[in-house]
Amino acid sequence: MYISSQQSLVSFNSFALNVTAQQLAVVTCEADLEQFELPQDKPHFILAGGSNLLFCENFDGVLLKPELTGKEVIDDGDAWLIRVGAGENWHEFVTWCLAQGYFGLENLALIPGCVGATPVQNIGAYGVEVKDFIEQVKAFDLTQRQWQWMSKDDCQFGYRDSVFKHAFKDSHVIVEVTYRLPKQWQPVISYGDLKALTPSASASEIYDLVCQVRSQKLPDPSELGNAGSFFKNPAVPEAQAQALAIAYPDMPIYDTAIAGQKKLAAGWLIDQCGLKGRKVGGAQVHQQQALVLVNTGAASAKDVVELAWLVRTQVAERFGVLLEHEVRFIGAQGETNLDEMMLKYEHQALEAECGE
Ligand SMILES: Cc1cc2nc3c(=O)[nH]c(=O)nc-3n(C[C@H](O)[C@H](O)[C@H](O)COP(=O)(O)OP(=O)(O)OC[C@H]3O[C@@H](n4cnc5c(N)ncnc54)[C@H](O)[C@@H]3O)c2cc1C
Repeated sequence: MYISSQQSLVSFNSFALNVTAQQLAVVTCEADLEQFELPQDKPHFILAGGSNLLFCENFDGVLLKPELTGKEVIDDGDAWLIRVGAGENWHEFVTWCLAQGYFGLENLALIPGCVGATPVQNIGAYGVEVKDFIEQVKAFDLTQRQWQWMSKDDCQFGYRDSVFKHAFKDSHVIVEVTYRLPKQWQPVISYGDLKALTPSASASEIYDLVCQVRSQKLPDPSELGNAGSFFKNPAVPEAQAQALAIAYPDMPIYDTAIAGQKKLAAGWLIDQCGLKGRKVGGAQVHQQQALVLVNTGAASAKDVVELAWLVRTQVAERFGVLLEHEVRFIGAQGETNLDEMMLKYEHQALEAECGE
C-alpha cells in the first residue's frame, strides 16, 4: 500500500478541481486491505477514477484507492464469465472484450472510470445497464474485516443505484467484478442514435457508433473538467407526468419499470429553462449538453455547487420537479449533498460577515 499525505486531487477528479486529501492510500493487492486499519479519528472514502464525484472542499481524512488489476476468463458453456480487477479501466476492458469476441458491453463504451465503480451506481447508457451482466462482486468489508462474494441480488441494483450507495457505503471495498456475457449475443439498438443501425448490426458497429456519438456530444474531461450527467432523470408520479404533458406537449416522457411512475429527461428540463451556457464563476452549464456542468478552467468547488443549486431551483420553479444529483458530493468529512453544502456556505458567509 502506498500512502501519501496532503495529496492534491486535481488529477484524481474529472472536474479537475483544486482540492486536497489529508491522506491517499493506494491499494494494490488484497493483503493491503486485510492489513488496513480503519482510521478512528477521521473519515475515509473510497476513490476510483473520480469521474462521478464532486469534491466540495478539501477532504479531512483518508481516501482509499483500489488499484487491483487482472482479468480471468472462464468458459461457462453458454456464457463467458470474466473476472476483472477493480482497478482496471472500464473503457479499456470493454474494448478488450470486443477484441476477444465477448459481446454485450459495447453500449457502455467510453464511460470513464474503473471496473470496481461500475456496480456502485449500476452504470448505464444506450438502453443497457451493467447489472444485466454482473454475476458476482467480491468485496472486503472494512468493518467486519472479512471477504464477501455478492450475487446480483445481493447488490440490490436500481436505476444508478445499488447496496454500495446505502448499507455498504464506505464499508465494502470492491476488489473484483465477475461479468457474465452470454455467447448468444443480442444487439440492443432501440435507444437514441443507435436506432439508425440495422438489426443485423455487429457489436463492433454498435461500439463504433457509441464512441462516435459520445465523443461528439459529451465534453472530454481531459479537455473540459466534468463528471458526465450531473443530475438523474427524475421519476414522477404518472398523474404529474400527464399534467406536464398537457402543459408541455413536446416534453419527452418515458416509461419506467415501476408501476405508476414516469421518467422525465433532466437535460430537456434544464434546457427549457434557458440555462445552456449559464455560468457561476468558472463553472458553466455545458453549451451543447444541458445535463453536464463543466469547469471552464478556474472553477472552484463552490462555483459548481452554486451553479447546481441555481439549475435545481429554476427547474423546480418552472416544472415543479426537484432534480436529484447523480454526482456524489464529497465534503471535508465524507459524503454530503447539495442542500448541506449550500447551508455550509451560508454559515461560512455569515461568520465572515460577523468577523468571526
Ligand atoms: C464524460 C463522462 C461521461 C459519463 N457517462 C456516464 C454514463 O453514460 N453512464 C453512467 O452510468 N455514468 C457515466 N459517467 C459517470 C462515471 O463515469 C461512472 O459513474 C463511473 O462508473 C465512475 O467510475 P470511477 O472509477 O470514476 O468512480 P469514482 O467517481 O471514483 O467513484 C464513484 C463511486 O463509487 C465508489 N467506488 C468506486 N470504486 C469503488 C470500489 N472499488 N469499491 C467500493 N466503492 C467504490 C466511490 O466511493 C464513489 O462513491 C460519466 C462521467 C463522465 C465524466
